[in-house]
Amino acid sequence: MSEEPDPEPAVNISGGPDGGGAAAEFDPAAADTRAEAVVDRLGELYWTKTYGGRDGFECLVRTILSQNTSDVASQPAHDALIERYGGADADLADALADAERSVLAETISSAGLYNRKSKTLIEVAEWVVAEFGSAAAFDAFARDGDPEEVRETLLSVRGVGPKTADCVLLFAGGRAGVFPVDTHVHRIYRRMGVAPADADHEGVREVLEADVPAAKCGFGHTATIQFGREYCTARKPACLDDPEACPLADLCEQVGVYPETGEVVDPAAAPEAD
Ligand code: SF4
Repeated sequence: MSEEPDPEPAVNISGGPDGGGAAAEFDPAAADTRAEAVVDRLGELYWTKTYGGRDGFECLVRTILSQNTSDVASQPAHDALIERYGGADADLADALADAERSVLAETISSAGLYNRKSKTLIEVAEWVVAEFGSAAAFDAFARDGDPEEVRETLLSVRGVGPKTADCVLLFAGGRAGVFPVDTHVHRIYRRMGVAPADADHEGVREVLEADVPAAKCGFGHTATIQFGREYCTARKPACLDDPEACPLADLCEQVGVYPETGEVVDPAAAPEAD
């Protein structure tokens, strides 16, 4: 049996050595809030990535490619894009701003929605070149700028939503205290009863960033996504057939999950508990 190389470091680190952040301790028993206890439990389940220190523009490109698709599908698209447009002497933003849309679309076809994504990538690259002059200058802004300003600036660009903006802050800036909310994070913390059942993405983000210590937010984001794929999936959460199957069951209120009937609804559609 061949062994896959494991690119993950052996310890939990939230916040990269180049981008700030700090090593975090993961002890569910010592957590101050339920949200923190959840993240700590996830810390026992999963390997962790090191955050920060990535180039901001490449991070933006990577996150746009990953929209509505899996990492398995978006990684080859990212690699093909870098191979074609990211030569050693080339500025990636310049190269993408000048790209022929059909050629870019074909290059990233494995990521799905390639027509829309190629259009967004070119528009974002044109914006970076117009506003900052180069990808390198944008990288410096994402890394060193005021986080709120970076976030607001990114959100003003068409095709860039809150999750993409937060991923740039987290992965490029290594900003502690940023807990990007994607579809898994949005579903899981409302199911658990950690966030209100009817909270939107921003509402869930506010709860998590208030309740989870800054150094653990980055880890919490990626680990929750992994947990959402493996255990608490949208249609068939692990607890549906077997209450013992979920390692977070004791921290969860199962809002909208009904093991008695096998029914699962969005937490916002679940009748309120008395
Ligand atoms: S107990 Fe069920 S609903 Fe709660 S986190 Fe686990 S799998 Fe998800």
